[in-house]
Amino acid sequence: MKPVLKSNKLANVCYDIRGPVLQQAKRMEDEGLKIIKLNIGNLASFGFDSPEEIQLDMIRNLPNAAGYSDSKGIFSARKAVMHYTQQKNIKGVTLDDIYIGNGVSELIAIAMNALLNTGDEVLVPAPDYPLWTAAVSLSGGTPQHYLCDENNGWLPDLDDIRAKITPHTRAIVIINPNNPTGAVYPENVLREILAIARQHGLVVYADEVYDKVLYDGVKHTAIASLSEDVLTISLNGLSKNYRSCGYRAGWMFVSGDRSAARDYIEGLDMLASMRLCANVPGQYGIQTALGGYQSIDDLVAPGGRLCRQRDLAHELITAIPGVTCVKPQATLYMFPRLDPEMYPITNDQEFIKELLLAERVLLVQGTGFNWPYPDHFRLVFLPHEEDLREAITRIARFLESYRKR
Ligand code: PLP
Repeated sequence: MKPVLKSNKLANVCYDIRGPVLQQAKRMEDEGLKIIKLNIGNLASFGFDSPEEIQLDMIRNLPNAAGYSDSKGIFSARKAVMHYTQQKNIKGVTLDDIYIGNGVSELIAIAMNALLNTGDEVLVPAPDYPLWTAAVSLSGGTPQHYLCDENNGWLPDLDDIRAKITPHTRAIVIINPNNPTGAVYPENVLREILAIARQHGLVVYADEVYDKVLYDGVKHTAIASLSEDVLTISLNGLSKNYRSCGYRAGWMFVSGDRSAARDYIEGLDMLASMRLCANVPGQYGIQTALGGYQSIDDLVAPGGRLCRQRDLAHELITAIPGVTCVKPQATLYMFPRLDPEMYPITNDQEFIKELLLAERVLLVQGTGFNWPYPDHFRLVFLPHEEDLREAITRIARFLESYRKR
């Protein structure tokens, strides 16, 4: 038989969060080794249980959830999302503008597939949540990475965005609050991004899946609330704000001036129809979540478990010589920098693998988030305090031995 090759479409597609180093970690676990995992933002596996209210309502509705639903989602879920847009001061979103999906992940793929032709360019942040870059590539587009500036709290570098616009640019992606940096974008930055999109006729994609995972009283502004003209696709879901990654319940809505976008919206509708519908039990969790009281607020408030773990992880990691880190204002992540003079790393995937083999701690390398230099890593601060302490003690020990090489 001829070799069976993967499609050429996958040539530039990469998703390192679940890449080769994770496979190595799995092999080590199969051999009976215990690994401290600071690699994936999966809340439930660290004892952040999903709200009981959501679980009970999903169980109650299970008998009603055996059939396919409308491709864009069940009425109650879409209505709840519509109310959510009203609470976020986003104007004019109707039931018809809302799509429920199997998590934000599926909707990112649908949104990019419906938009892009070969050669079209999309501005994606660096660092990014790498699914965005992968989805642009898989859809035949070309990701162009604009830099976020570590020296300016990881905010998007607006000049770099402007410099990277070409006649082929179709869209700009923002991830706000940001994975992996934990930055939250102030209104003036969002307004500048809208001005750029308006000037160049770009669609704005706003991934806001962490919009309740906020610390220190910081406020989140939905970019869609700041314009009624720029075509904006906002994405959100239950995975993070409601600690329910496994229920695969997400949504996306279109706002701004839809009049010139009828054809694109037809494309979204068609792709939503082709996969019939999102999993229906998960959809039943959405109304309960958005109307309920059991969000993540207590965990992120001062003294809450997530807030304490963020503070602890930040304090311990920045106490290591040559490690600096912008303190995250949101999310479950931080993106520390290793001083290249002290740690002359050339291949950060190898570096992360060496750490895993030596100390049984799993991180993800910065280049896995399309960061252009091998001098960062992402740390997930979900494990309990004692595990976080132990993991960062081991990272410090590994870095000390690295400095002595
Ligand atoms: N967007 C961002 C920024 C994420 O960090 C993640 C998951 O980590 C997702 C989307 C995927 O979310 P979902 O579980 O809704 O597919």
